[in-house]
Amino acid sequence: MPDRPATYYVETLGCPKNQVDSDKLEGTLVADGLHAVGDASAADLLVVNTCAFVEEARQESIDTILTLSEQRRPGARLVVTGCLAERYGQELAAELPEVDTVAPFGASVLAGLDPASNGSTVPVALGATRRRPDFDLLNLPRPASPRPWAYVKIAEGCDRACGFCAIPSFRGPQRSRSIEQILGEVEQLAVREVVLVAQDLAAYGRDQGVGERQIVPLIEQVSAVVDRVRLLYLYPSDLNEALIDAVLASGTPYFDLSLQHVSAPLLRRMRRWGDGERFLDRIVAIRERSPEAAFRSNFIVGYPGETESDHDALLDFVDAAQLDWCGFFAYSPEAGTHAVTLDGEVPAGLRDERLAELRERQDQITETKRDLLVGQRVEVLVDEPGVGRSHREAPEIDGVMLVPDHLAVGEFHQLTVTAAVGADVEAS
Ligand code: SF4
Repeated sequence: MPDRPATYYVETLGCPKNQVDSDKLEGTLVADGLHAVGDASAADLLVVNTCAFVEEARQESIDTILTLSEQRRPGARLVVTGCLAERYGQELAAELPEVDTVAPFGASVLAGLDPASNGSTVPVALGATRRRPDFDLLNLPRPASPRPWAYVKIAEGCDRACGFCAIPSFRGPQRSRSIEQILGEVEQLAVREVVLVAQDLAAYGRDQGVGERQIVPLIEQVSAVVDRVRLLYLYPSDLNEALIDAVLASGTPYFDLSLQHVSAPLLRRMRRWGDGERFLDRIVAIRERSPEAAFRSNFIVGYPGETESDHDALLDFVDAAQLDWCGFFAYSPEAGTHAVTLDGEVPAGLRDERLAELRERQDQITETKRDLLVGQRVEVLVDEPGVGRSHREAPEIDGVMLVPDHLAVGEFHQLTVTAAVGADVEAS
């Protein structure tokens, strides 16, 4: 391999926020004169953008590092970045000699590749970037989107202290981008749908010192320049009238509510706001205004102290709320969080039983809701030949709409749903 890599391959794990980071990282590599290759074994530089959300994600990240290390050609460099690198950088450096460099958020992944090392040592340095802004990857340019939609990250970090979550400890406090920076990126992406992401999306702008809440003007301004604006991860206490109005006015009535549980005592142990009754009231109120509204949420199962009656309350909520989409995740203890200090560990077997019960219940609800769409007219954005989405489906997370292959990609089409196939539907 030449001293300076000419080609790169990036593997991204984890959530949409990580995908945006990878896009930005690719933007820096392209700006440095490198070219992307689709085959890891053909690249001079391999980058793994890792996830450290839960134990399973950490293991997947390590497996990916090892797999890519085996696939790389002689002399190719392997760089690890992302959440796992940020949290466990020193450990990775010590235990994975396959890794050439561990790069922190926003650092140039090329910075640690000292040609003198010839890849035989582990020059891992969690130091500052050589020439990139010391502001994560938020405002770096990114390559054009190959799809008619794109994630846009509007803030980094989080000011909350949810009991199960280690993110604030390594992503830091919230830093919001300016509306101008976000609009600039949206315009440059030239996509039909923008999916706004952040750790705590509705808190956007609170750190800018220009008033409590900037998410509403942001939605208004972004929806003025793009056909669809979708919001992921809304903390439920922030879902007030103004925010609901803005989402409905944008024309994409999709609400991704970060609920995590519905039992009030358990939510307090999670250091979170709310309870099932309040959540349900808001969902019902939104549906009264917009019967077309689609809802997604995530829940943690097996958090310390979760009782049988907490679990029953969640099952009842799932039945009552009839959400379109739900993710249920097994609680995973994270070092340094409040949750690991709590008693009431839920045995893994019981946790898995609860998970299976909830997933089965929700799968039936999702399928029924998809069946009810048959015969309805829908506006579909075609993402690729034969596959599109209406406002009800967020990309990469929810089901899809299977559409005729000849429909133009990147365009909206008025179609009728003809059949439901599990979480997907067919429309023509
Ligand atoms: S809102 Fe809670 S769960 Fe989400 S990133 Fe912040 S601390 Fe973590």
